[in-house]
Amino acid sequence: MRVAFFGVGGKVGSVLVPALTAAGHEVVDARSGALDGCVAAIDFTRPDAVEENVQRCLDAHIPVVIGTTGFDTSALDSRARDAGVACFYAPNFSYGAVLMMQLAEEAARVFPRSEIVELHNEAKRDAPSGTAKATAARMGTEPAIHSVRLPGLVAHQEVIFGGPGETLTIRHDTTSREAFVPGVLLALERLSELPPGLTVGLEALR
Ligand code: NAP
Repeated sequence: MRVAFFGVGGKVGSVLVPALTAAGHEVVDARSGALDGCVAAIDFTRPDAVEENVQRCLDAHIPVVIGTTGFDTSALDSRARDAGVACFYAPNFSYGAVLMMQLAEEAARVFPRSEIVELHNEAKRDAPSGTAKATAARMGTEPAIHSVRLPGLVAHQEVIFGGPGETLTIRHDTTSREAFVPGVLLALERLSELPPGLTVGLEALR
């Protein structure tokens, strides 16, 4: 399909664009080009750019896959419903990270005390990460979140549980941005089946 991509030159975009092309999609740079003929859009940009990009898509009636984190998604559902357009947002497109969140939710039922350490490349603008916030929300136990920003890191998270005489650590490491490719391809494939409004998380696509 013809896909408008916001963020082609970014760290994620530069991995996703060749992968989308290899999967048979025609990718156009949404920043420099018109959205004409595009049947879907993808945004991996910045928290201060994503809302305007999404609005451009809603105005053009083009459904959007959103990967950008660190922005307020609360108004997006009603905006997308009003426009009659589907938006899909995942705080993390890696399957391993989704499993990590599921396991953390399960462990939180047994261990009420826990803390999250999320570690990302120093260029990441938002803290805590969208994944850490989503994990904490699912756990429901309000764990403290510690954010580390250093060169050499990609995206990593530990959820550490502590109880009398034992600890449990659930850790996920993204070692390459290729980890996001299968999840983004799945979201793109399923986008036309989604209802108008906002759908959140890869779990919702099963
Ligand atoms: P990045 O390397 O900073 O890339 C962002 C790109 O967006 C840059 O090429 C930037 O171009 C471009 N851009 C900025 N404003 C734009 C606009 N208005 N229209 C079109 N393009 C624009 O960041 P990244 O590491 O690729 O990450 C991008 C976003 O995805 C971040 O919010 C990050 O947290 C998130 N992310 C999400 C997931 C997930 O699974 N959900 C995974 C990884 C990353 P200029 O530099 O020229 O401004």
